[in-house]
Amino acid sequence: MSIFRAYDIRGIYGKDLTDEIALKIGKALGTFLKGRKTVAVGYDTRPSSPSLTKNIISGLISTGCNVIFLGIIPNPAAYFYAWKKKTFGCYITASHAPIKWNGVKLFKPNGLSFSDKEIKIIEKIVESERFLKGKGKVRKEKNPLKDYSKFLKDKIGKVKGKILIDFLGGAGSKAIPILRDMGLNLITLHEKPDASLYGFHKFEAGNILNFAIKNVKKEKVDFGVALDCDADRSFFIDPKGDLIDPSIMCAIFIEDLLKRKGKIVLTHDCASGLEKLVKKKNGKLVWSRIGHNFIEKKVWEERALFAGEESSHFYFNIFYPFSDGILSTLYLCKILNKTGKTLEELIKKVKLNPVKKIYINVVNDENKVKLIEKFREKFPKAIDVGDGVKVKLNKSEWVLIRLSQTLPEINLCAEARNEKRLREIVKKYSEIVRKYLKIIRGK
Ligand SMILES: [Zn+2]
Repeated sequence: MSIFRAYDIRGIYGKDLTDEIALKIGKALGTFLKGRKTVAVGYDTRPSSPSLTKNIISGLISTGCNVIFLGIIPNPAAYFYAWKKKTFGCYITASHAPIKWNGVKLFKPNGLSFSDKEIKIIEKIVESERFLKGKGKVRKEKNPLKDYSKFLKDKIGKVKGKILIDFLGGAGSKAIPILRDMGLNLITLHEKPDASLYGFHKFEAGNILNFAIKNVKKEKVDFGVALDCDADRSFFIDPKGDLIDPSIMCAIFIEDLLKRKGKIVLTHDCASGLEKLVKKKNGKLVWSRIGHNFIEKKVWEERALFAGEESSHFYFNIFYPFSDGILSTLYLCKILNKTGKTLEELIKKVKLNPVKKIYINVVNDENKVKLIEKFREKFPKAIDVGDGVKVKLNKSEWVLIRLSQTLPEINLCAEARNEKRLREIVKKYSEIVRKYLKIIRGK
């Protein structure tokens, strides 16, 4: 299994992503940058992050590149630092993946992540072991959140509201002073690092959010939000304690943003009603392949106002092209303050069909590639979305089958007219996935 994937570098710590490989990744990145650039380096709260970071930094300076050490910092704040200071960036995280995983995100002075092609080049340099030699320096940044904080205060201004944030043991809690300073009455959960809280599947099952949901109901807040370990994603909870579908959040953001003229970038896993909303508001819709680096590039190239995807990444390109869970939270507060409406009132205005996403373990990476091939063969009329296919069932119902870029899994996403139909469609197509998997594995 290769740790170099389409969106980033990711693997199981100590098995396929070791300290030794991290050293080589640092050397390869430094070599790619010709030993002459500055790289800002930060990391999330995973136990394996400090050691991987130390090795990446050693690798980078051994090529002549200089390093600005940011320490533990939310991922979007690290992207912001590099964007603002016009340096390259490197962030050690496996985002929402389980505890045994870790990874590396690489990004550029324009605020965009390395493309799949650039990650491939890093992989080639690692394999060749032909690294530049030099003597770089490390400088520790004393206040890495200073400019980020100033930017948010300048652009968003003062905000009012009582909100609950579950940091889920991640790096997002570093932003607590900023949020309080901007005027929010905050109730915080899990602000200390907690390895037991990292894990993708817990999100999907909903149980990782149960604590936040329970407390939202108890505390009478304007809304609740949970951030993933690196704080680029935000999962919103309404005051009654219901998890809000990310497509509904997109609709609320789009409704506000399209008061001005502009483009909106969406991915194929969003509810089809969003397409209608963009048209109704005289916006221009642009489709993107799913995955943060593809979306960042699209939103940046198209100079779009915003991009959203069903995975709860929200990209406010009116500010910068990368996804930021802290900014999304503040932006929602701003909308509530501006409109004087409650979140429930805003949700009521949104008319979207239900969408559901599930993840099916297919044992290894080879199987997931074969499975997508099988779907292409069996459903020749399906839309090719780059890493999978979208099968249109009728005007408003569809099933999207994609291979996960980060885990040995198939992502199955569907939209239907109602919840009952949705359950039926998800059940039918997950059975098809399992049937094809059996054929592929020869069982
Ligand atoms: Zn993340």
